[in-house]
Amino acid sequence: MDATAQVAIVGAGPIGLELAIALKQAGIPYQHFDKGQIGQTISWFPEMMRFFSSPERIAIAGIPIPRTDQSKCTKEEYLAYLRAVVQQFDLPVRTYENVERIKRVDSGGFTLHSRDAQGQYHTCRAEKLVLAIGDMHRPHLIGVPGENLPHVSHYFHEPHRFFRKKLLVVGGKNSAVEAALRCWHCGAEVTLCYRASELDPRHIKYWVLPEIQGCVRRGEIRALPTTTPLAIEPGKATLRSVRGGEPFEIEADFILLLTGYEADMALFAETGVELTGIEQNPAFNPQTMETNVPGLYVAGTTTAGSQQSYQVFIETSHIHIDRILAAIQGNPPPPEEPTNRRPEN
Ligand SMILES: Cc1cc2nc3c(=O)[nH]c(=O)nc-3n(C[C@H](O)[C@H](O)[C@H](O)COP(=O)(O)OP(=O)(O)OC[C@H]3O[C@@H](n4cnc5c(N)ncnc54)[C@H](O)[C@@H]3O)c2cc1C
Repeated sequence: MDATAQVAIVGAGPIGLELAIALKQAGIPYQHFDKGQIGQTISWFPEMMRFFSSPERIAIAGIPIPRTDQSKCTKEEYLAYLRAVVQQFDLPVRTYENVERIKRVDSGGFTLHSRDAQGQYHTCRAEKLVLAIGDMHRPHLIGVPGENLPHVSHYFHEPHRFFRKKLLVVGGKNSAVEAALRCWHCGAEVTLCYRASELDPRHIKYWVLPEIQGCVRRGEIRALPTTTPLAIEPGKATLRSVRGGEPFEIEADFILLLTGYEADMALFAETGVELTGIEQNPAFNPQTMETNVPGLYVAGTTTAGSQQSYQVFIETSHIHIDRILAAIQGNPPPPEEPTNRRPEN
């Protein structure tokens, strides 16, 4: 056994880091793993993307996010903030170490089997385990021929590469709409294709919706509502109305399939956590965050599995830390948060 600890945390996103600070402050020995860098999920968000949450709602461990203009953070600013917090608390995170398997120990606790960036295998024994692994592990594939061609991507990184190119963006939620707008501003010829008849304001940032509506109205961005791709080939895509009718082709130098992401719940399944429904929601006690497996807790967005409609965010997950800390210390659960504390949008 390479390491032993009272608690093992898997995942060093904002919520895993917030929990690590709480454990450190409480003097509870822990081991902390992330398969990538800290804030790994946020690091692949589009360049200069702005969070919809105000800074104070995504700040962790009571450390303010300083803003000179009170604006919302960009991804880069938030990652810089997370790095500063890790430095401030001198958090030992085993980055680039993937927890590949977890075994329950008959006498209680867990053995984690991990692999680091050099390919070395490690084991860690922990009495308690917290999975804070997020919910965006792989893209939601749409399952059409050509989806894996080189000019097709499920991730939008930045708009420059689409300058003066024909770009098809597939998806009707915020990621797709924001990508369409940014690429059009950057000189791309953009078509936005989505299954619904209207863009749904509940899924689009309030400052983004009027802009896309204006661009579509003026013909600057071509919108194809109630439309879905059937096949992709180099230089073109075949589309069809979801209401039926003849398929038709459009030219496309590049295609962004921004149709959401899925959680990989394999670590939950192999340890015996009950997963229910299409979202694969883990079973847990909402007062303690302990799953049906004794000693195994869940925190952050992974509590909601593969969310179909996003309800769990950073800003709604801070309370998970207090609940887990109280449970681990054998204290009563913290008072409930005010009900229906909806995230800003
Ligand atoms: C474009 C976009 C914008 C968003 N904007 C907001 C916003 O404004 N406000 C808000 O509150 N939320 C927002 N969210 C949602 C939420 O903030 C993020 O998903 C956030 O990263 C969730 O934090 P987390 O700590 O729960 O999980 P994550 O940040 O996803 O962290 C999970 C970590 O676990 C690691 N991990 C996973 N599996 C393993 C393994 N087997 N071994 C080791 N490590 C592992 C990952 O590498 C990752 O670092 C946004 C999401 C997206 C996609």
